[in-house]
Amino acid sequence: MPYNCVVLVKQVPDTTNITGKAMKDDGTVNRAALPAIFNPEDLNALEMALQVKDRYGGHVTVVTMGPPRAAAVLRQALYRGADQVILLTDRKTAGSDTLATSYALKCAVERVGDRLGGYDLVFCGRQAIDGDTAQVGPQVAEKLDLPQITYAESIESLQDQKIVVQRALPLGIEVVECNLPCLLTVVGTANQPRPPSARRMITHKLAATPLEYSALLKRWPEFETEEALDQYLGERDLRITVWNGADVNADYSRVGLDGSPTKVLKINYVVLKGDGSKEFEASQAGLSELIQELVQDYIL
Ligand SMILES: Cc1cc2nc3c(=O)[nH]c(=O)nc-3n(C[C@H](O)[C@H](O)[C@H](O)COP(=O)(O)OP(=O)(O)OC[C@H]3O[C@@H](n4cnc5c(N)ncnc54)[C@H](O)[C@@H]3O)c2cc1C
Repeated sequence: MPYNCVVLVKQVPDTTNITGKAMKDDGTVNRAALPAIFNPEDLNALEMALQVKDRYGGHVTVVTMGPPRAAAVLRQALYRGADQVILLTDRKTAGSDTLATSYALKCAVERVGDRLGGYDLVFCGRQAIDGDTAQVGPQVAEKLDLPQITYAESIESLQDQKIVVQRALPLGIEVVECNLPCLLTVVGTANQPRPPSARRMITHKLAATPLEYSALLKRWPEFETEEALDQYLGERDLRITVWNGADVNADYSRVGLDGSPTKVLKINYVVLKGDGSKEFEASQAGLSELIQELVQDYIL
């Protein structure tokens, strides 16, 4: 039986590769100083959805909410096997906290469902590496009134309208069964995300949103006008769908800064300094002493 999967992915600053001042004085992220990447656990979520499609058939739609340049992660999703990608972008959603983000994403998932005649599975990463809250997946599930399985590590079985999922918990694993439709938040140990396929990269390398046309015309002057470029991409199914808040029937008072009760008042920079080194004797006693110290420091 084929399944309709929706995957929510976020473009995030590469927090392992900071090249300038990471935060602005107003407490928002200085995205210009940081290279942008596909949120790592969202790649695991996409992989899990693609495996469902490989095994049972169906359709994988990938949605991201972000600025126009977030289309880059959508192209990455197309290269890996997504059937359709959608950019939800609207200046009025800027500054959204998790409450507002999850509301906007819930509206987008509903719109996807309207277009596809419903959805069976919504996949999120467990956590984004910039905001780090791990709240968006569970909040989207609540707002869609869906059951949710967090920390999903593998799908044990999927039959008709029932799914069995193994969850990775700090002290072990848990296997849960749930009716569809449901939402999964996927952990980084779930799978090895497939690399972009060379064949799909060749097919989809020109995929673009209309918001990118003016920049693209500088690279491809042979198209002369945005209309000509749009027609070319439209005929080849390479025009990436762009929605704004109104397109997904969002109530603007519930998104952006107005819809966000969280206000970042102050950012503190924490500098972790090394505290020298300590040598342990290569003996049973030395090993016991090392283990005791690690336990005391809550490392073990
Ligand atoms: C330093 C910092 C601190 C912050 N502190 C808070 C805070 O305390 N409270 C608060 O409410 N907000 C906070 N925010 C804002 C928060 O980052 C945004 O609301 C963000 O859009 C979603 O939260 P998250 O990054 O924590 O996502 P998470 O909840 O960690 O993301 C989980 C999953 O949800 C999906 N997802 C998340 N965002 C998107 C998106 N834009 N498009 C598609 N899928 C998405 C992805 O699958 C992702 O893996 C903070 C942001 C920063 C940079």
